[in-house]
Amino acid sequence: VTAFVPTERTAVRRHRDRAHYDRDLVYAILDEGFICHAACEVDGTVWMIPTVYARDGDRLLLHGAVANHVLKAAAAGAELTVGVTLVDGLVLARSTFNHSLNYRSVVVFGRATGIEDPEDKAAALARVVNHLLPGRTDDARAPNSTEMASTRVVWLALDEVSAKVRTGGPIDAAEDMDLPVWAGVLPLRPAAGPAQPDGAQPAGVGPAGVVAPAPAYLTQPARWYGGA
Ligand SMILES: Cc1cc2nc3c(=O)[nH]c(=O)nc-3n(C[C@H](O)[C@H](O)[C@H](O)COP(=O)(O)OP(=O)(O)OC[C@H]3O[C@@H](n4cnc5c(N)ncnc54)[C@H](O)[C@@H]3O)c2cc1C
Repeated sequence: VTAFVPTERTAVRRHRDRAHYDRDLVYAILDEGFICHAACEVDGTVWMIPTVYARDGDRLLLHGAVANHVLKAAAAGAELTVGVTLVDGLVLARSTFNHSLNYRSVVVFGRATGIEDPEDKAAALARVVNHLLPGRTDDARAPNSTEMASTRVVWLALDEVSAKVRTGGPIDAAEDMDLPVWAGVLPLRPAAGPAQPDGAQPAGVGPAGVVAPAPAYLTQPARWYGGA
């Protein structure tokens, strides 16, 4: 299946022209982003947490401490709603009312499932880490049994999904077009600064004299800048 089928919940009503259900587009947004906002209702309160995620085929992987409200409820079968947003620019119109943002965003509805099998859980956790920095699990120590036991991992099927994308310049009212106001787009993108070694290993040398040179994924962070 190449496209998601809009449901009552995922049918975009406002600015339908910006709606997308193409699976490749949705997956490209999910793979470029790394922070989601996951929400579910527990005892009359809608709880929401910002958290990292990774996509694994047709599912989304979320992890957190076992006490994490949202993930605990999600693993027990609560309805989950997850949003991922990439901001591409500020859209400056001649009127403040018509200001906007260029963005690509995804909303996912569904019920999650806990991942209990130790091997599946370890693989899911590694996927989340490598989504942030590909190759990081080749270097960093894997979780031990205590760390695994204190971590919850859930997966959410990518079935009921919508994307919304805004591109282009401002849309001003005709009567505003003569105003002496700068109008256009200020593009925005995430930017990594130079990597900062922690105090225990200045210049890449650890306390025990172990040399840990900066990995290539820090100096050539292809994961960032849209893969540039
Ligand atoms: C970075 C960013 C900033 C925004 N700022 C504002 C703002 O300040 N004010 C404002 O009104 N709107 C803003 N939007 C747009 C906002 O996300 C909604 O699309 C819009 O407000 C319409 O809301 P609605 O409840 O009428 O949506 P509806 O069209 O009724 O939503 C129905 C369904 O459409 C889908 N949908 C709606 N919006 C999105 C989306 N953005 N991404 C993926 N699926 C979606 C969902 O499945 C949702 O359940 C912003 C979006 C982004 C990404």
